[in-house]
Order: sequence, then C-alpha cells, then structure tokens
Amino acid sequence: MTDTATLPDSPTITPPLAAQIVDTLVHRIGKDADAALPHDWLAATILTVRNDIIERWMESTKAAHAAGAKRVYYLSLEFLIGRLLRDALSNLGVMEEVRTALDGLGVDIGELEEIEPDAALGNGGLGRLAACFMESLASLDLPAYGYGIRYVNGMFRQRIDKGWQVELPETWLRYGNPWEFERRESAYFIGFGGDVDTLADGRAHWDPAEAVEAVAVDTPVVGWRGKRVNTLRLWTARAFDPIRLDAFNAGDHELALAGQVRAETLVRVLYPADSTPAGQELRLRQEYFFSSASIQDIVRRHVQYFGDIRTLPDKAAIQLNDTHPAVSVAELMRLLVDHHDLPFDEAWEITRATFGYTNHTLLPEALESWPLSLFERLLPRHMQLVYAINARLLKEARAADTSEEAIRAISLIDEGGAWGSERRVRMANLAFAGAHSVNGVAALHTDLMKSTVFADLHRLYPDRINNKTNGITPRRWLQQCNPGLTALVTEAIGPAFLDDAERLADLVPFADDASFRERFAAVKRSNKRMLATYLQESMRLKLDPDALFDVQIKRIHEYKRQLLNILETVALYDQIRSHPERDWVPRVKIFAGKAASSYHNAKLIIKLANDVARRVNGDPAIGDLLKVAFVPNYNVSLAEKIIPAANLSEQISTAGMEASGTGNMKFALNGALTIGTLDGANIEIKDRVGDENIVIFGMTAEEVAQRREGYDPRAVIDNSPELRQAVEAIASGVFSPDDPDRYKGLIAGLYDHDWFMVAADFDAYDAAQRGVDARWRNEGDWNAAAIRNVARVGWFSSDRTISEYARQIWGVM
Ligand SMILES: *Cc1c(COP(=O)(O)O)cnc(C)c1O
Repeated sequence: MTDTATLPDSPTITPPLAAQIVDTLVHRIGKDADAALPHDWLAATILTVRNDIIERWMESTKAAHAAGAKRVYYLSLEFLIGRLLRDALSNLGVMEEVRTALDGLGVDIGELEEIEPDAALGNGGLGRLAACFMESLASLDLPAYGYGIRYVNGMFRQRIDKGWQVELPETWLRYGNPWEFERRESAYFIGFGGDVDTLADGRAHWDPAEAVEAVAVDTPVVGWRGKRVNTLRLWTARAFDPIRLDAFNAGDHELALAGQVRAETLVRVLYPADSTPAGQELRLRQEYFFSSASIQDIVRRHVQYFGDIRTLPDKAAIQLNDTHPAVSVAELMRLLVDHHDLPFDEAWEITRATFGYTNHTLLPEALESWPLSLFERLLPRHMQLVYAINARLLKEARAADTSEEAIRAISLIDEGGAWGSERRVRMANLAFAGAHSVNGVAALHTDLMKSTVFADLHRLYPDRINNKTNGITPRRWLQQCNPGLTALVTEAIGPAFLDDAERLADLVPFADDASFRERFAAVKRSNKRMLATYLQESMRLKLDPDALFDVQIKRIHEYKRQLLNILETVALYDQIRSHPERDWVPRVKIFAGKAASSYHNAKLIIKLANDVARRVNGDPAIGDLLKVAFVPNYNVSLAEKIIPAANLSEQISTAGMEASGTGNMKFALNGALTIGTLDGANIEIKDRVGDENIVIFGMTAEEVAQRREGYDPRAVIDNSPELRQAVEAIASGVFSPDDPDRYKGLIAGLYDHDWFMVAADFDAYDAAQRGVDARWRNEGDWNAAAIRNVARVGWFSSDRTISEYARQIWGVM
C-alpha cells in the first residue's frame, strides 16, 4: 500500500496505513475521526484496501487479455457470499497490518467484521458452492467471471418469534456496498413477450412487447495470496424510460413510474427453493433476464477480443449451476442464428461445445420445468428454438433405435398426462442436450443420475455424464473461521497446507501424540467457549463448553431429517428423566436453518425444535445433561461461528437424497466427527477419514429404494419402544401444551407414509448416538479421531474440485 496522506498532528509513529484510512474517511465518506460511526470506519477500511485490490484486478484482466486466454463463466442464480472483509484481508495477507492500523485509531477490527452485512444471495449449499468456486478460481489463477443477480433483498432474514419462523427482508445494501462497482456503460437490452416475424430472407425477427435494461455491478474476488482478482458480475435492472412524463403530467403518477417499478421488482428478491407456483412468472423472468445479459456480455467480449464468433468454444467455457440458467442454451442459439447469421447446425455445435451443466438434485419436485404456455408467451423466439433443438434431439434418439417410452423421457417437452395436466418445458433436458458435459456433485449422486432421472439421455450420450465431487474453500472454512486450529496445525506441520490443503495429511501422525491431542482439545474448547459466549449474549442461553456440541445446521427440509434428530433428542430426554442415575454424557443439541416460506412442514419442524428446546432447557431434572438451541437466521457468518465449535456433525439425510452436501466437509475440516448416512459426499468422507473415524448408520440408497415397496411405518413405530414413546409424546402435546394438536398432522404423516424413512432409520440412529456417547468418554480416542478427520479431508478443498472442472470440462489447465 502506498503512503498517500499523513494525519494532521499525528505522532510520527502512526503507521501509513492508518493515515490512509483516515484520509479515505475524510475524503470519501466525508467525516472526521471524531464523528465517524462504526459503519463509516468499515467503509473507510474497505475503500482503502480496495485500492490495492483494484490494481491487482486490472493486472489480472490485462494479463488474461494479452495472453488471449480462455475464460471460465460460472452462471448461477445464487451466490451465497457472506462477508468479504476478513476474506479479502486474509487472502491479501494484510490482516495484521490492518488490525494494527485500526488499533492505533482506537477501532476494533473484530467489531467492524461483525457489522459488515452478510451478502446472502443464495438459499444454501448450491449458492455457497458458487461462492467457494469463485474464490478457488482466483486462487488457482484462472481467468473467470461469475454471473448472477444483484438481489436488493436477497434471502430473507429469519427471526424466531414464540418458536415460529418469521421472514423479514434482508437489507444488506442499507449502508451502500463499498465492494461493488456499477458499470453503467455495460448495459444490455432484455426483451420479453411480443411476436416473432419471418423476414424476407427467411430469418426470424423477435419483436418483444416489453424490455428492461440489465446493468452490470462488479465485485472483485480476491484469490489466495492475492495472486489473481476475478470479477463477480451481478446484474441489476433499470427501466429504459425512468418516468413516463405524459402519464405523470396527466396526474397518473403510478403509471408514470410503473416501468421502473417493474424493473426493480425483477431484482428484488431471491425465490426460496421449493416454493409454490406463486410468483412463477417472475422467477422465469429473472432466469431469462440474467441469462440473456450474461450471454450477451460473453458474446460481446468474445467478438471484441477475438473477432470471430465461431471460435467461441476455444475461448469461453460456460458452466450452468443447475438448471436455473438453462435458458442460456436457447439464448446463445438465438444470438448465433438470428444476430450472427450462423446456420442452425453450426450454431448448435458451438453451443454444445461451450456449455457445461451441473446437476444438483434428483428430487422430482425440484426438477425445474415451465408451463409451455407461459414459456411461449414470455419467450416466443426461444420457444421456437426449443422446438427446433428438440426435433434434432429426437431425430438422433430415433436414429439410435430408442424406444417410444425413452423418446418421451428424452424430449424437451413433457407432453402432459392423461389427466389433462399441461405441457411443460423441461429445463434439465434442455441443459443436458445443450452441454458437452453434464456433471453430478458426488460419486453416488452421479451414479444415480445415470440410473434414474437421466437414464435414457445417458444411454443416448454415454460419455456426457461425469462426476465432480463438491468442495469448500479452506481459506474461509479453516484459516479464517478457525485461526486457533490454523495456528496449531502450522506449528505442527509448517505452512505448506495453506497452499495445498492435501498437505494436511502430514498431520496424521500427530493423532497419536498425547500432548498434541491436548493442545488440539484446548483449541476446540476455546472455540466452544466463544460460541457459548455468543449464544449467551444473542439468545440468553447458558451452555457448558465441556458438553458434547452436537450440531445440525442446514436448510430445514424433510429429506435432511431434522425430525429424526429431534425425535432422538426427545427419546434421550425421556431416558435421562427415567434414569437420572446413569452416567449420561452432557450434550448440547444445536440447530439452525431456514425453511422456505411456503413449506409448511419445514416451518412446523422449526417450531417443534423450539418447543422441545423450551421444555428441555427449563426442566430442572435435566440440568446441564441436555440443552437444545435453535439459533436464528442461519447464514454464512453464523456457520463460521458454529462449525469450529462443533464436536459432532449431523449429516443424516435419507440415503439417495442429498446430492453431495458441503456442510459435512466444513465440519470434518474443523475437527468434528460425522454421524451420518451413506449419502452424498458422506460416502467419500468415510472413504478418506476411515471407518473408525466416522459414525455411519442406517439404510443405503439401494436399501431405501427396496424398502419403499410395502413399507409400513406404523409397524416400525409400534416395534420401537423409544421411537413410539417420542412420537406419542409429541403427538399428544407434551411439548405444545398451549396447542396440543399442533403436531398431530406432522406425526400422522410419519404413520401414514413416512416418505423420508425417519422411522425405518430411527433405531439405528439411536444406537449410533449411544455409541457416540461411549466414544466421547474416551477423550484421547475422540481427539485422535477428530485430528484424523482434519488431516484427511484436504481433498475436499474446492481447489481440487475446480482443477478437475478446469482440466476435464473447461480445458483451461
Ligand atoms: C455450507 C453451507 C450450506 C450447505 O450445507 P449442507 O449441510 O451441505 O446442506 C448451507 N448454508 C450455508 C450458510 C453454508 O455455509
């Protein structure tokens, strides 16, 4: 950093950085040090370190341009970024310098970190993956752009009111966002609706009925050691005419501003996953808005740099993060055919060679499809192209002697059922057809893609599906969130693991070193004490840092089976009350997570966790043996506080339903043992940490599939005394005396169908938990297993994942 100013009257010992921050405060924020509020100091600090980032950013861009490098474009409707200050300072290696400078100004950097808004532009794992990938792309020095939407309110903020989830708007932009740069000159026309004419030369001409302008807002993404700075380009919307003066002057002020309001509505909120059809049309508009802007921007850059649109696949790799940006396939075809005059077949070759598609779910209700009537009304030209692509696809299928049933499964159009259900456009099939690579996110998930949802497409294109097991960035999820453990590991094995997470393997022998184990335990205990202090202050809950911290934090969804955990908690509570004389292991059960606002059962599960917490925490007969905490407003920043303090990581989804999971990786990297099913990446974690260092229970995906036939949950519940007791207590209102019937419906669902096999896995889970108790009593053994987890999960670094994408899909390494 350069010395730009000195403090008036400042003692000569003032470090230059402090002077720069004060200079920024005065000249950019317009306040002096006496008047500055914490937010002003935060903005001044960010703007000061930003100068250094901008220089590296420009160098990165110039170097890629000069080298004619191929660029990676990661298209995602979600980026769950979290806070950026600590990430940027740590990756630039200036954390201590900035801390000292602020100290000298009487400002606590920890306080500034805590007031930085958490950019929650995503629902959960899929959005966090996109953020980890952006960081790894920069760390691996790969030229890349992330493309998404700059939601004004993002994911809702969750408050817990009398145990119920209440959704509030997240106002993360309230104090402005010093990280971003609005590029008013990078604006694109985005049309909707209207008609398609055929011109005299046979070409199609789309005449949209309405339009908005997409404007780029850029955020720099700093890689590890500041090697490279890439761009996260988020689109905001603007009306072409900010105001209709004719309407305004005629007194109709609402109509005068309607265009601007419509544009702003487009980028207002992130639709929660699993929501109902309400707002469907707006969601499709969002998808097209951001896809079109991104594809136009990519094509514009390519033509500007390289001149010839036909070389696009040599210079651009576009990755679709799930099907949300899948309309991009039709959009690129439109630009190639209608604007660049390429023949359809050639355009199709280019398109397929450019796109890759990542699938994130096999749950049928989450596979995206759009009513054909809506798609056609909003995107008439794209509808024509989808039909043309489909005709090609089905011709290839017929040529390969595909059965009529398989043809129906492969088609981009779901023709609707015998009950008059409407025709729909299948986005997963469109993404599959339009990409040269289709990947799953963990080995099991990829196998299931081949055998279930994409079986027929896989038979037709057997080389297309491949696996890229997810990863997490070890910078945020170890170095930054767990400085204590990072320092201890560095002391033991040196700093090489900071640049290559797989070097953590050097730690394996330390698992057998009693004195190292003690120091490891001390770090964990210190993290637990910090979390206990935070929870005491934020929710007035007193926790014993010596208890086993048992954590399940993730979106609330029935397949993730928070209910299984709560039932086991109730069973344990009952056991402790019945046998207080036994040698119980003190436990703290920590839950956090948001439920989609329209997801009734998920919201009821949140209420149940809170009802159980109130009863258990207030029971003097239990004392400190069991405590239950539901921590409100799960987000990246909260995860960063809780994960380093966890002893036990709950990864208990119904086998076959969690595509990968990434929370599981974060916990293992921070020295928690996993209790989990053989699902998603849990399987690969087990393969790496070893069977003795993980607690696996329950049915496999195959067993779940077989068990469905003739499954009788009532018989299972009746045969398990513990489960039956817990279920009956909940159903009869023991935890909801104010409304004894509250959980009748939830429990009736368990008896009736239990789609997520909670009852079938309960006894195995309960037994596994008692096994955990036994292990916990042997402190040395527990810590050794925890250390082996840290040492053996370096492979789950998103650097490894990204280098696989780079080599095997994008061709950029
Ligand atoms: C890692 C992460 C997730 C994903 O967690 P899973 O347990 O894999 O579902 C979701 N939300 C946040 C904030 C995260 O950091």
